[in-house]
Amino acid sequence: MAHEGKEILIDWLRDAHAMEQMSESILEKQVKRTKSYPHVQEKIREHLETTKRQAERLERVIKKLDGGTSRMKEGMGKMIGNLGALVNSASEDEVVKNGIGDFAVEQYEIACYKSLIAAADHLRFPEVKQVCEEILHEEQEMAAWLDANIGDVTSSFLDRKQNGQQAKR
Ligand code: MG
Ligand code: FE
Repeated sequence: MAHEGKEILIDWLRDAHAMEQMSESILEKQVKRTKSYPHVQEKIREHLETTKRQAERLERVIKKLDGGTSRMKEGMGKMIGNLGALVNSASEDEVVKNGIGDFAVEQYEIACYKSLIAAADHLRFPEVKQVCEEILHEEQEMAAWLDANIGDVTSSFLDRKQNGQQAKR
C-alpha cells in the first residue's frame, strides 16, 4: 500500500513536469509575440525562467523518489494540452486572448500543486511537499499579476487599435 502511494505520487509529479514543459513552450512563443507590450513581455520572460526552474526541481524530486529509473513523460499533460489551445491564438486580439488563456493556465497549475501538496503530506514526503509549496507560491504570484493586469492589457490593446498602431502582439 505504501508502495502504491509512492507510485501514484511519482505519476502525478510526472504529470506536473509535463505540464511545466507545455507551459514553457507556450511562454516561449508569447515572449516573441508581445513586443508592443513591453511590461507584459518582461513578466512573461520572468515567468518563463521561473517555469524552467520549476521543471528542473520537479525532475530532481522525481529522480530522487524513483532512483533515477523513470523517464519523463513526453509531450503534453492531459488537460494542459487543451489549455494550450487557449493560449496559442493567432487572432487579431491575441494579446487579450492569450492573457485570458494564461490566467486559466495559472489557475490550473495552482490546483495541481495544491493537490500535490496534499498528496505529499498524506504520504509523508516532506521534501516533495516543500518543493510543491515553493512552486505553488510562484504560480500564485503570476496568477495575481495576471489578475491585476488583464484589464490594463485590454485597455492598451483598444487604445493601440483605435490609434491605428500595431495592437495584435
Ligand atoms: Mg508553472
Ligand atoms: Fe505558471
